[in-house]
This record gives sequence, C-alpha cells and structure tokens, in this order.
Amino acid sequence: MPDNCLFCKIVAGEIPAEIVYEDDLVVAFKDIDPQAPVHMLIIPRKHIVGMNDIEDEDQQVLARIHFVAVKLARQFDIAEPGYRLVNNCNEHGGQAVGHLHYHLLGGRQLSWPPG
Ligand code: C5P
Repeated sequence: MPDNCLFCKIVAGEIPAEIVYEDDLVVAFKDIDPQAPVHMLIIPRKHIVGMNDIEDEDQQVLARIHFVAVKLARQFDIAEPGYRLVNNCNEHGGQAVGHLHYHLLGGRQLSWPPG
C-alpha cells in the first residue's frame, strides 16, 4: 500500500473510522464530513486510485461494492424512499482522496443536477 494513502490506513486500522461493514474485499465507514443524514463511503481493500484505474480483475470488488451499498441502504433505512451511490473521478469529478470510493448518501431529498 502507498505510505500516504488515507483510506489504506483506514483499511489497516491505522487511523480511526466508524466502520459499518467489512469483508474480504471491501470496507464501509461513515463519512467524517457527512453531506446527508446517512453518508458512508464504500471502498475496496485493494489500493485502486480511482475509477479510471480499475482492471479486469477488479470486477468482483466492484460488484461487491454495489451489493454492500444496497445492504447498507436497507440497514440504515434509506432503501425507501431512496438514496444515491456516487463516485467522484479525478479533478472535474471532485475526487479529493486517491483511493477508489463510493459515497452512499440518503436520508433527505437529494437535488439534481449535481453542482
Ligand atoms: O469523493 P471525494 O474524494 O471528494 O470524497 C472524499 C471523502 O472522504 C469526503 O466526503 C471526506 O469527508 C471523506 N473523508 C473521510 N474520512 C477521512 C478523510 C476524508 O470520511 N479521514
């Protein structure tokens, strides 16, 4: 893992996070600066910088992220009336942390289009 990756350090338990789910492929934790009543991040254990860096071998982890998003949406009671699963890719996408992550947001009416 890269020395300076914040999310690798969360995966390794080296910096604290409020973990809500983990398995062999992914870890999910509450966002430190929530933008909605429910705001969690779902990340691969493997260091993948961003969406443009996914490879053939990552297909299982990407499927798992979607599966876990639905599981957490149900667990945190936002499956109905709904939620959003978001990946920010690179500068124009607004990506701040260089370890692939998906935001699970819900608990309020989300606006569209995004800013
Ligand atoms: O998609 P983007 O890279 O902008 O999102 C990074 C997210 O990581 C932010 O929502 C930020 O609040 C969150 N974060 C966190 N815990 C940290 C550092 C950042 O939840 N220790």
